[in-house]
Amino acid sequence: MSLATLMYHDVVSGGRWDESGFAGSAAAHYKLDAANFHAHLDALLAAGVAFAEPDAVAAGGREGCLLTFDDGGASASAVGKIMSRRGVRGCFFITTSRIGTPGFVGARDLLELRRDGHLIGSHSHTHPANIARLDARALHEEWRRSVDILEQLLGEPVHAASVPGGFMSPSVRSAAEAAGIRTLFTSEPTTRAWHTGSCAILGRYALLRESAPGTAVALAAGGGARLRQWAAWNVKKPLKRWAGPVYRFTRAQWLHGRLSSHRDPTAAPRE
Ligand SMILES: [Zn+2]
Repeated sequence: MSLATLMYHDVVSGGRWDESGFAGSAAAHYKLDAANFHAHLDALLAAGVAFAEPDAVAAGGREGCLLTFDDGGASASAVGKIMSRRGVRGCFFITTSRIGTPGFVGARDLLELRRDGHLIGSHSHTHPANIARLDARALHEEWRRSVDILEQLLGEPVHAASVPGGFMSPSVRSAAEAAGIRTLFTSEPTTRAWHTGSCAILGRYALLRESAPGTAVALAAGGGARLRQWAAWNVKKPLKRWAGPVYRFTRAQWLHGRLSSHRDPTAAPRE
């Protein structure tokens, strides 16, 4: 048995992609339609997937399937309620500079999510375009401010975080650790956990707008779906690292063309 962590972002209805979380077509690629998200939960429950308790994972537990949600978009509140009704608890990673701004969760939402047993963690303070490029002082500020805000708001220590954009580096990790983070989620699609210093690094499998419920089940269950995502991620990794801005620009352009041209007939078949 191992821990398989799934990475979601916002969940929106009626094609209103910019209603929750960060705006734009690149961000929309990571958002699920509400009906699709409901179907993901139904499929995971029907398949008998054992869900991990977020607090247990933060305490070192490494079993089951953990659902995480990045960015802190306003939809987190509804997502938390849907999950609670089904007895599932998740992790919500919050971009703290956005708390209470249009499209993002407010302080009361976060208190309710926590009261319902979900775990609240940091997703940096401002969600920089590439956090790995910040100098040590700016990095420290991103994590420290974010953790301080959440701790004051929740009235308890905050020890979990996810790396914005998946831009992981040794300095991103050490700054997070210095800010008190003990469990840091990346976007590397793996079930393998690393421990460096006092911080555990955990990978996650991404669920995208076009991901079918069966993909979530396959990723939770292991096997081929995980390997395919891992292989694709490793092909992209050098591109992302060495040509970051160009890669993001090209990707944004490509996604924009893709979203505005309805459905790309050359797109890969759904899993
Ligand atoms: Zn993010």
